[in-house]
Amino acid sequence: MGRVYNFSAGPATMPEEVLQQAAAEMMDYHGSGMSVMEMSHRSKVFQDIIDEAEKDIRTLMEIPDNYKVLFIQGGGNVQFAMVPMNLMKNRVADYIVTGNWAKKAMQEAQIFGEAKAVASSADKNFTYIPDCSDLPIDDNADYVYICMNNTIYGTVFHTLPNTKGKTLVADISSCFLAEPLDVTKFGILWGGVQKNVGPAGMAIAIVRDDLIGETLPGTPTMLKYSTYSEHGSLYNTPPCWNIYICGLVFKWLLKNGGLKERKRINEKKAAILYDYLDQSRLFHSTVRKEDRSLMNVPFVTGDKDIDAKFVAEAAEAGFVNLKGHRTVGGMRASIFNAMPVEGVQKLVEFMKEFEAREA
Ligand SMILES: *Cc1c(COP(=O)(O)O)cnc(C)c1O
Repeated sequence: MGRVYNFSAGPATMPEEVLQQAAAEMMDYHGSGMSVMEMSHRSKVFQDIIDEAEKDIRTLMEIPDNYKVLFIQGGGNVQFAMVPMNLMKNRVADYIVTGNWAKKAMQEAQIFGEAKAVASSADKNFTYIPDCSDLPIDDNADYVYICMNNTIYGTVFHTLPNTKGKTLVADISSCFLAEPLDVTKFGILWGGVQKNVGPAGMAIAIVRDDLIGETLPGTPTMLKYSTYSEHGSLYNTPPCWNIYICGLVFKWLLKNGGLKERKRINEKKAAILYDYLDQSRLFHSTVRKEDRSLMNVPFVTGDKDIDAKFVAEAAEAGFVNLKGHRTVGGMRASIFNAMPVEGVQKLVEFMKEFEAREA
């Protein structure tokens, strides 16, 4: 079998050009006579890789100079802990709970202080984003936390919450580089890279510099943002290969029109799928229209057996990883940056054909 259309929510599909380039550079990176996997992180050749990656993500996201870009081992769950350890000076934080990832982040913060849900969409199994225009934000809150795009439930914040002047922290793991974002609205933006950027096991944190410095007593060196900012993310041996691949993805995005163009393509892909779902007699979207994600599209038939049959037949036809998360059921198509328009078109053709047989 050749390559499939991979709708996995993460680790997720990568741009083919990037995979090919990594393969071409595998044995001898730029005349170094070795793979990036084999080179010293203290070498000039690797320093150029990490510098270039930082420069390119700054260009893509228009990151202002007073924000640091930090490459941090450990992925998303480590950021759940790093955020409170670095920001929770008053030991108070307000969380907006729009799904599993926000809830897990809140529970981690509860290890360190009083982290509470000031809004939630749990009442309707997280199928919408709650109104966040006038929340009971605590006067002592060190920050307000959101999960911007809810990977499991397929919702996204189209409007940012009114934090009443408090620092906004956002997990952007599953919408990282999917469209332009105004970085200045946030104190910290962080994303695990395995959804939309690169190989699993690393997060990129974009942190406003006045938030870096003080940490809770007992914070280990590797969990302080200052350790990364003071050493250019090279305090210890970083995930070199990971940083290199993310850098290739940044170049791929820049070459293909940057984030404005990416948004246009992502909107086009999402519209193909949602337009079909909204008129289908068999499949329907589980998410309130105004809160739908561009990246993760859950859908169901309402019949578990037909869902299972669809997932199995789709996989047979080369559309893989369409099974929904166990808490939603049905299906989920993750259509991240690297999923071509053609992949979504072909999936919808397959769904139409299945519907004609089953409905
Ligand atoms: C996948 C995901 C995480 C968890 O990331 P890990 O790297 O597995 O810890 C956190 N937040 C969101 C939004 C995710 O999609």
